[in-house]
Amino acid sequence: MSGPVYDRVALIGLGLIASSMFWAIRKAGLAREVVGTARSAETRETAREIGLCDRVTDTVAEAVEGADLVVLAVPVGAMGAVAEAMAPRLAPGATVTDVGSVKRAVVEAVGPHIPEGVHFIPGHPLAGTEHSGPRSGFATLFDNRWCLLVPEPGTEPEAVARLRALWEGMGAHVEEMDADHHDLVLAVTSHAPHLIAYTMVGVADDLRRVTDSEVIKYSAAGFRDFTRIAASDPTMWRDVFLTNKDATLEILGRFTEELFALQRAIRTGDGEMLHAYFTRTRAIRRGIIEAGQDTDAPDFGRVKTGA
Ligand code: NAP
Repeated sequence: MSGPVYDRVALIGLGLIASSMFWAIRKAGLAREVVGTARSAETRETAREIGLCDRVTDTVAEAVEGADLVVLAVPVGAMGAVAEAMAPRLAPGATVTDVGSVKRAVVEAVGPHIPEGVHFIPGHPLAGTEHSGPRSGFATLFDNRWCLLVPEPGTEPEAVARLRALWEGMGAHVEEMDADHHDLVLAVTSHAPHLIAYTMVGVADDLRRVTDSEVIKYSAAGFRDFTRIAASDPTMWRDVFLTNKDATLEILGRFTEELFALQRAIRTGDGEMLHAYFTRTRAIRRGIIEAGQDTDAPDFGRVKTGA
């Protein structure tokens, strides 16, 4: 699609995801104007300083005024209050979407505040880094990544098609699914792995027989990849676990069973079981590379820093 998809996009919250959206929208000319706002004066000031958004307003109400697309890009636990604050100022016919990592909780927190005549299409770009804040965004974050949209049944197809065009314009592939299914898929692919990484790094932190300097020095042996994930934003991840409780607990239950099975195989010296298990997991990794969702370059494609 060429030319603007929306006239005025309002970005509520100016962290990693919203700032990446701004740079991607601007690069591809997907909106005539992008207005942004954030909770703290400090973030709004930074945004003005680095030219993040065409206009930065001090309040959510001012930001959504006359916008035909409003994007909620704040932590999941804050979405309801933000939706309530902006609701009276939403333009008729506008679309409200979000980028939250959990979907059912957002549908329940935001949905009741959306006025008649405004479309509500929750969304979730499956793209991120461990960095946050207004300076962390970049235009290519969504390139070749998935964005999942979870419109409620009965949502106007034209409104969904327009939002899809925006995400595709920013480089993403778009798929639609139901909110509960989204939450289960993400519990497997993202939420449980994050919890495991947090735990692993926490364990290393507790182990006094291995010194901190040894943990850091020899981290390339596997630990380093956990530390990157475990460096993710604490507020965002607290909210993910509080709002995707059931699916995460279900997957963690399964995880614990598998862990016990592996533990038993190690204890009993069942090499056959371990080999078969690792052969199966290796095939999953190959599938991810073949789907273009990661690189098989040595060391995960990391640029050598000389360190
Ligand atoms: P971020 O960089 O930490 O930015 C969060 C923004 O939300 C900031 O502008 C912050 O304002 C604002 N905010 C925080 N608490 C708030 C509150 N209680 N009320 C109003 N505004 C508040 O976060 P992000 O990584 O862009 O994440 C934003 C959303 O995207 C989250 O819902 C997250 O689940 C989702 N998401 C994140 C990733 C990822 O990897 N990071 C990936 C996909 C989706 P101040 O700066 O003024 O504090």
